[in-house]
Amino acid sequence: MDHEDVGIETGDFISDFIKEDLSGGRFCYVRTRFPPEPNGWLHIGHCKAMSIDFLTAARFGGECNLRFDDTNPEKEDVSYVEAIKRDVKWLGFDWGRREFYASDYYEYLYGLAVKIIKKGKAYVDDLSEDEMREYRGTAVDKDNITDTPPGRDSPFRNRGVDENLDLFLRMRQGEFADGERTLRAKIDMKHPNLVMRDPVMYRIRREKHYRTGSEWCIYPMYDFQHPLSDAKEGITHSLCSLEYEIHRPLYEWFLREAEVFPSRQIEFARLNLTHTVLSKRFLLRLVREGRVSGWDDPRMPTLAGLRRRGYTPAALRDFMARIGVAKTDSMVDFALLEYCLREDLNRRALRVMAVLSPLKLIIENLDPGAEITLDAVNNPEDPSAGTRKLKFTRELWIERDDFAETPPPKYHRLFPGNSVRLRYGFIVTCTGFEKDTVGNVSAVRAVYDPATKGGNAADNRKVKGTIHWVSAADALPIEVRLYGHLFSPERPMETPPGKSFLDGLNPESLAVLKGALAEPSLAEAEAPEAAGTEGRGGVFFQFERQGYFVRDRENGEGGVPVFNKTVGLRDSWAKIKGKQQLA
Ligand code: ATP
Ligand code: MG
Repeated sequence: MDHEDVGIETGDFISDFIKEDLSGGRFCYVRTRFPPEPNGWLHIGHCKAMSIDFLTAARFGGECNLRFDDTNPEKEDVSYVEAIKRDVKWLGFDWGRREFYASDYYEYLYGLAVKIIKKGKAYVDDLSEDEMREYRGTAVDKDNITDTPPGRDSPFRNRGVDENLDLFLRMRQGEFADGERTLRAKIDMKHPNLVMRDPVMYRIRREKHYRTGSEWCIYPMYDFQHPLSDAKEGITHSLCSLEYEIHRPLYEWFLREAEVFPSRQIEFARLNLTHTVLSKRFLLRLVREGRVSGWDDPRMPTLAGLRRRGYTPAALRDFMARIGVAKTDSMVDFALLEYCLREDLNRRALRVMAVLSPLKLIIENLDPGAEITLDAVNNPEDPSAGTRKLKFTRELWIERDDFAETPPPKYHRLFPGNSVRLRYGFIVTCTGFEKDTVGNVSAVRAVYDPATKGGNAADNRKVKGTIHWVSAADALPIEVRLYGHLFSPERPMETPPGKSFLDGLNPESLAVLKGALAEPSLAEAEAPEAAGTEGRGGVFFQFERQGYFVRDRENGEGGVPVFNKTVGLRDSWAKIKGKQQLA
């Protein structure tokens, strides 16, 4: 796909910086990178990051590397690499052959560490992790670590270069136990920014890495590895989310001391969404603790979860374009995302009828065995989607709440004596109903008017209600899953003391409806994972009057197809927009 088509508007502050860099001669080309750590599946926040990375590069005729920042052996796995690649591709971003792994740079990084030691700018420390923390000092206000009372120097800080070189080599050779020694940058233990107080560059960790195996027992820390990996790849603009802003002086320190390519870090606001948690660490807990069925549970904000739920790449790109690239963090209303989704699904979804809670309707003036063929439009927004045939028979299924024994005010559906149109079919008039032994309505009776077929212009009878239905002769049994927000609170990460974000999990985020019935054409529906975006039997459906649905990748009990509700038909965004300003 041509990245210019992808939609996000990159005429923003990042582009302004880049223009300055190009015209001022700092760089003569543009190269960015999208750097996920393969310790989990991508979420919608990553969609923002990669849109900015890929589209900014495309805008300046540059390129974007996909780099796996994989220097934490205990958390990373090749299955995550695969999931990440699948999701980046799904969104339409193409990294071509520009696929890189920080773990390929271990030797290069080691060499630069040695260089920094030789300059007297790094030392091997024997302090334990706890001691180091104590020497470093703590922030008065933990949300502001850039203005912290001074820390103290480690007693090992003034080791000579030769001793440091020797110890670092022996760290690599496995002479010391895990955690026994670290390599630290020698910067300033009194620096107001905690990040600059002699940060750790290497730690000893005897852990198998999914790519390098047991080749290494020392691993570089993120703050050391990241800028130098950027430099190695000739990344001109290292675009990252705002939490890295306080790390920028350190990013620049390592580039300077290692005397490498002068990549420039620029930060943008993280995406936060209401009722949603966007951090792999926390999503991992949901998966590990079985709070969801897996990374691609349709309630998860992961790209795989969103795909399974029925979200489209086009809707996500539209959303990214609407939220833009700001420099301050904000909370985006989930309803805006749903709005973008509905706009897209309205264009592409095939209209079908499904009855979620069936009640029998008997057409008294139609013989058993009689069949009338009706034409139904597949998508009024897209004539090329064509039409399909529906069977109209004596026994039909309608929605249980489309009938009322005694109608409430303004009820325009079926009740004794009232007429409605059956979608794509005829006007029917209710003549009575039956009850079972416990007093529940078990069937509704009606007569149809043959002159009103399909709602053609000649039909001058007007009725107020139109209801959907399926024929009992060929209805397809399906299971339907309805979803609510995974978290009840708007800001699930803002928990009161003593509470966990898990306390905010919505106990009603999933409802399973068995015994729903649909048009037989839905048997051909393909799950988004199986079909890409252009399945032959259709992928995206609007169940008329109910909402948008997609087939799940797994079948339900008895092999029946399962359909996930993607989003309802009604737009709550328009209402919200009136009340509340998007920050
Ligand atoms: P973790 O919780 O493990 O740190 P993460 O969700 O922050 O996970 P990373 O692999 O650290 O994921 O992020 C990869 C890239 O995506 C980084 O450049 C990061 O800045 C960006 N990113 C992550 N989350 C968001 C978000 N919510 N909005 C925008 N960008 C994000
Ligand atoms: Mg992160």
